Amino acid sequence: TNIPTFKLNDGTEIPSFGFGVFQIPADGTTYKAVSDALKLGYRHIDTAVAYFNEQEVGKAIKDSGIPRDQIWVTSKMWLQDYAYEDAKKAIDLSLKKLGLDYIDLYLIHQPYGKVDEAWKAMEEAKKAGKIRSIGVSNMTPKIWNKFVPKFATMPSVNQVQFDPYFQQKELRQIMAKAHVTLEAWGPLGQGSKELFSEPLLNDLAKKYGKDVGQIILRFEHQEGVIVFPKSVHEARIKSNKDIFDFELTSDEMDSIRALDRNGKGMHNPDAPGVED
Ligand code: NAD
Repeated sequence: TNIPTFKLNDGTEIPSFGFGVFQIPADGTTYKAVSDALKLGYRHIDTAVAYFNEQEVGKAIKDSGIPRDQIWVTSKMWLQDYAYEDAKKAIDLSLKKLGLDYIDLYLIHQPYGKVDEAWKAMEEAKKAGKIRSIGVSNMTPKIWNKFVPKFATMPSVNQVQFDPYFQQKELRQIMAKAHVTLEAWGPLGQGSKELFSEPLLNDLAKKYGKDVGQIILRFEHQEGVIVFPKSVHEARIKSNKDIFDFELTSDEMDSIRALDRNGKGMHNPDAPGVED
C-alpha cells in the first residue's frame, strides 16, 4: 500500500493513517467495516476495550489472511482496570479478545484514577513482548505535566481530539520536546457540518479535485499527526484513504492553521458523534 509511516520515540514505525472503530456496533458491522478497510489497503486499526468490538476487529484481521506483522493494532485500557493487578488482567483479556499474541500499541484511555499503576503494568507487558508500544490518551497539558514526569518510560503517543478547529498548539509544544507523536481522535470533527461547510476547505477541495474530508485529513497528515477516520460506508472508507497523491502548499497549511480556535464552541468531546 501507499501509506507512509511515522517513527515513534521508541523506534517503532507506525502507519500514519488508519481506521477507527469507535461506536461501530459488534453485531457484524465492525467485522464488515474492518474487513472492507483491510481490503481497501488500510493496515492500522484503532479500537478500545470500551468500544466492545475488539473481538470482531480480531476476527476480521484473522480472516483477512494478511500477515500479522503487516497490520498495526491499537487498543486502550478502560478506567475501571487501572489498579495494577486488574491492569495486568485487562491486557491479557484484550489479547484474548483480539486473538493476537501481541498488540502494537496500547493506551491508557482516560487520564484519571490509578494511572501510575496502569502504566507500570503496561511497561511490564511491553518488556514481556505482549505490547510493542505504549501511550496515553486525552492528556491535556495540565494532566500531562501531572503524570508523565513520574513515568519511567516516555509515552510514544498521546491520542487527543484534533481537527482544524482544535489544533492543540500548547499540548503539541510540550509533546514535541519529548518526541511524542500526536494521534488525532475525531480527525473529521466527528462529521461536524460546520467544519465540512468551511469555505476555505471547500475552495481547496475544488482546487485539488478532492472532497473536504480528504483536505482535512491531508492537512493533519502534513502536520505530522496520525489519523484514523471512522466510517461504516465503503465509499467513504475508500475516499478517506485517498490522500497520498497531492500536497497542500505551505501557504495553504498556514491558512488552515489559522482556523484553529482551540476547540472553543465545539460540541462536548464526550458526546457521541453521529454517523449519517
Ligand atoms: P471522526 O472524526 O473520524 O468522524 C467520523 C464521522 O465522520 C463518521 O461517523 C461520519 O459521520 C463522518 N464521516 C466519515 N467520513 C466522512 C467523509 N468522508 N465525509 C463526511 N463525513 C464523514 O470521529 P471518531 O470516529 O470519533 O474518531 C476517529 C477514531 O478516533 C475513532 O473511531 C476511535 O478509534 C478514536 N477515538 C478515540 C477517542 C479517545 O478518547 N481516545 C475518542 C473518540 C474517538
